[in-house]
Amino acid sequence: MKQIFSFVNIVLVLGFFGCQTAPEKTHTNPKVITTQDVKARLNWLIKSEELMGQLEINEAGIALYRSPGAKDSGEVECRIYPDEYVLTLSLMNTLGIDSMMSLYQKKGSGRWEQLISLIAPPTEEISTGDRTGMLSGWKIAVDPGHISNDIITAEIEGKYVKMKPSSKTGGKMVEFFEPHLTLATAYLIKDSLEKLGADVMISRPYPGKSVNGKSFDEWQKEDWPGLQKQYAKEHNWDREAIRYWKKEAPLKDIFKKMFNDEDLKARADKINDFKPDLTLVIHYNIHSPNWDKRDKDGFFKTTEANYCMAFIPGSFAKGELAKVEDRLHFLRLLLSDDLEKSQVLGSAFMEKSLEYTQVPAVPRDFPLPYLEHYSILVEPAGLYARNLSLTRKIWGPMVYGESLCQDNIREANMLNENDKVIGELAYPSRLDAVARAYIGSVLEFVKTYPKNKGEAELALIK
Ligand SMILES: [Zn+2]
Repeated sequence: MKQIFSFVNIVLVLGFFGCQTAPEKTHTNPKVITTQDVKARLNWLIKSEELMGQLEINEAGIALYRSPGAKDSGEVECRIYPDEYVLTLSLMNTLGIDSMMSLYQKKGSGRWEQLISLIAPPTEEISTGDRTGMLSGWKIAVDPGHISNDIITAEIEGKYVKMKPSSKTGGKMVEFFEPHLTLATAYLIKDSLEKLGADVMISRPYPGKSVNGKSFDEWQKEDWPGLQKQYAKEHNWDREAIRYWKKEAPLKDIFKKMFNDEDLKARADKINDFKPDLTLVIHYNIHSPNWDKRDKDGFFKTTEANYCMAFIPGSFAKGELAKVEDRLHFLRLLLSDDLEKSQVLGSAFMEKSLEYTQVPAVPRDFPLPYLEHYSILVEPAGLYARNLSLTRKIWGPMVYGESLCQDNIREANMLNENDKVIGELAYPSRLDAVARAYIGSVLEFVKTYPKNKGEAELALIK
């Protein structure tokens, strides 16, 4: 079967093609985007009404403003006219965030053709390739949350569970950490999806190593001293800040605010460079009120609480449109169907999680501050829009799972037993059920959005 390229008939002739990371998407761009579509997405995108002070959507299109003050004085940062919606999305998908940011800031109330030259592309014949499995041609990114590979680093990272031996633990000491669980789950998912023909990329494939291939220890010795100098310059650190980061900052702070920030950005860049059709982000939860009840040595009390939840992009809260980059991500989510597709993937994930793990969705109105203040419930129960660093930065359909409460006593006992092996990694067999939930959600997604092989990418000519 051959199909002819017939998408937006445009090739860009741009002078500035220095763009290193150009996430051309392999998934389909919509051919028509209406202002009605865009407005409907606001229900999942806006958590704080104050953000409407930086935004206007009407028959004239979408206008974004640097601040509410700029809106009051009519200084549009970027206006996208309705007949430019599809082109804008194609530009974003083709150029990636860095190149797009400079174009976006130059546009103002003008039209794209005033900034770039547009010509018709040659038609292209697309080969359907060899079909060797039902997921042949599908590119799937898997992101195992966190990094540590030993309990000491995991305690610095704040991603561990340990419980003193008691009758509830069968007299055993409980000690495990989430980054190990997420990595083993990623291996299981990769193994199964590859057998079905998919091309699967794990963002951080090695135990204890960040996306950049370094452990926290290595990063601290090799990169951190130089980065302190760079950040001091970039963020105008005063003497106090310089002293704090050089001499006083606890390792937990350095991990969380510096190492982790850099790592999340690197994960998103690596995933976007891979141009996946969809992304699975893997996490395991803690019943957060229980976190504060740990004793002085960090040992957990057991809890009966157990639930699963998942996040998709959206739910921008107060202050979350402050930076140009934030506004550009917001614009992409307004124009693309990433939200609707993520909802399909996310609801399948919630359904399959219940089926395979027997852990229920977190009940509606469950009193967790991050759900109340930063999330918007998207049907079904347990699926929320939330503006996390990765739900915002990763392009394309995605689900960010939080599968069960690791500190639930029954789960903790199961997760403490490394009774199976995948590759060279021993892991608790409990993870098989979670991996099946992710795999099942991918298969549901593929059924809903069968891949159109004829959808071509925009051709770029220098
Ligand atoms: Zn996590």
